[in-house]
Amino acid sequence: MRLRSVFRVSPFRGGAPFASYKPPVSSRHQSRPNRSSFGIAFDVDGVILRGRARIGGSSQALRRLYDDHGVLKVPFVFLTNGGGIPEFTRALELSQLLGVNISPAQVLQGHSPFRNLLNRYENELIVATGKGDPALVMSEYGFKKVLSIDEYASCFSNIDPVSQYKAWTNDNVCGQSSCLEDLKLKSDVLSERVQAAFVVSDPVDWGRDIQVLCDILRSGGLPGQSDGHQPPLYFAADDLEYQAAFPMERLGMGAFRVALESVFNRIHHHPLEYVSFGKPNPFVFDNAETMLRQLSLSHCDVHGMDDVSPQSYSFSTLYMVGDNPSVDIKGAQQAGHPWFSILTRTGVFKGEDNDTSFPADLVVDTVEEAVDYILSREGS
Ligand SMILES: [Mg+2]
Repeated sequence: MRLRSVFRVSPFRGGAPFASYKPPVSSRHQSRPNRSSFGIAFDVDGVILRGRARIGGSSQALRRLYDDHGVLKVPFVFLTNGGGIPEFTRALELSQLLGVNISPAQVLQGHSPFRNLLNRYENELIVATGKGDPALVMSEYGFKKVLSIDEYASCFSNIDPVSQYKAWTNDNVCGQSSCLEDLKLKSDVLSERVQAAFVVSDPVDWGRDIQVLCDILRSGGLPGQSDGHQPPLYFAADDLEYQAAFPMERLGMGAFRVALESVFNRIHHHPLEYVSFGKPNPFVFDNAETMLRQLSLSHCDVHGMDDVSPQSYSFSTLYMVGDNPSVDIKGAQQAGHPWFSILTRTGVFKGEDNDTSFPADLVVDTVEEAVDYILSREGS
């Protein structure tokens, strides 16, 4: 099948975020701290950053979680519903922005669980949409026949009737590693059904994406064909709003889902079926706990603990520090023990007291205050 050779091969394969993390060689020769009885999950947007700007003393706060040699002292992860770039790229970006050494294993994005669908779609034609490079993200996870929705739409003449008015998209329909026109593979895409669609990150061109996704989903995977069985649709998250650089919250992936669902249900005889990942789903917190255990075992002194595995011990407390009550706090509440929720006032939540619908265990102004509280409570 020719299609197989089209799709991008990530030069970074192997940087899997859920792979067992090995600390840098230099850190393994340092004296290691004892195993931590607690861990921390930080949301990013509205807690650590607004856009690309650090907020709430985040850089100073995170530095306190490392020892004098820059070795991780307290296991922590970033648990974000954002994404659009591979975990290793996000880790590098966060390291530069925050001035601390973040490993890919510490970055859990909304789309990270998509890798668990690899067995089902590894060699199937799939379409990925969203800001950044959604197809590269999926390729990095191992999917071999993934096209961005930009690339996919470019195969179908006139699929977007207003494309000529979108000067910003006309020159950039090819992905980073492949170009359908150059590889003369349009005919394959035009005859093969899409097996699944993935909303990897916040869509950029809502109108075009709603149109093309409706075409894919109601036709059974091949735009222009008559109605067919809807292929599976996966969203990386379902946040209605999130805190970006603008003072007021911005519409998130959940808002896009509402728009797509509303339109689809008006033009199709079956309601839209979909699966949403990301916070507040409890399995996201379970996965974060597993990763925190692995981080803790990778960095702590395990002398005399040879039989310790990531599953064989538990934290006494895991802290979720977030700004969005309906996402971060609700998720931590649903996950239950040992999660303890801390709500900051630097993002979506701006109230004086506590959120009424999803009250946190603690409300603070900033992430720096949250870390202060955690370290003094844990006696660190
Ligand atoms: Mg947030």
